[in-house]
Amino acid sequence: MNHIENKVVIITGASSGIGEATAYKLAEAGAKLVLGARREEKLKAIADSINGKGGAAVYRVTDVVNPSDSKALVQLALDSFGKVDAIFLNAGLMPNSPFAALETDNWNAMVDVNIKGVLNGIAAVLPTFIAQKSGHVLATSSVAGLKAYPGAGVYCGTKWAVKAIMESLRMESAQAGTNIRTATIYPAAVQSELVDHITDSATSGSYRKLYDTYEIPAERVASVVAFALNQPDDTNISEFTIGPTTQP
Ligand code: NDP
Repeated sequence: MNHIENKVVIITGASSGIGEATAYKLAEAGAKLVLGARREEKLKAIADSINGKGGAAVYRVTDVVNPSDSKALVQLALDSFGKVDAIFLNAGLMPNSPFAALETDNWNAMVDVNIKGVLNGIAAVLPTFIAQKSGHVLATSSVAGLKAYPGAGVYCGTKWAVKAIMESLRMESAQAGTNIRTATIYPAAVQSELVDHITDSATSGSYRKLYDTYEIPAERVASVVAFALNQPDDTNISEFTIGPTTQP
């Protein structure tokens, strides 16, 4: 049974990496996609490719830090397809550095995108999900949301926050009987543009080495998202950890 077919799924961070791979994976299964990120040309190319193969995808330039952008993305889904079944809150940044480097602009950017971006997405979609009495919120945390690592303190903090926010949302929704499901994904090293944005040169070098050794394709994470979305309505897969077999 395909529970993904005809589902309307919003994806943030859809312009590259895990979000892009998930868009293609869900389109193959018959989902209708609503894609958000800041780079329009990337979103357009992905939507064109999906639509060119007979799928259904729309996009909107979206900065998840801006609450009105998140609301407009949800509105685009409603205007285009009449409902929203799921939102995958995946946009994220990882410009890591040791605390002593005092890259405070990067600390703030990670808090803004990785935490507030997720909250803005939840705030934008929740009224629709409550009114529908159904909905699925998925978010990308990280293995850094389960452990803390030196040189990644702020990123870890943001991804621990995602874990806490999602688990609390799951419990609240179950208690309220709103039929809203949540899934939090904790990837380890995955091929994407994430490491390219590290500005601290020592950190960048060590991450590049780690990712060159271990990374798995983003499509593997997309499969996990599809698996969570493909469950029957009464079943919630709330957490997944996924990474390279050889990564300790
Ligand atoms: P990418 O850098 O390839 O993707 C990040 C996505 O987030 C891009 O589409 C980017 O698009 C988008 N984004 C960044 N800032 C904003 C913003 N302000 N508003 C809207 N979109 C934004 O990396 P990944 O695919 O790896 O990252 C996806 C998620 O996976 C992130 O949350 C990351 O933390 C998490 N993750 C990744 C791991 C990995 O090893 N790759 C491991 C664990 C977790 P644009 O620039 O166009 O806005």
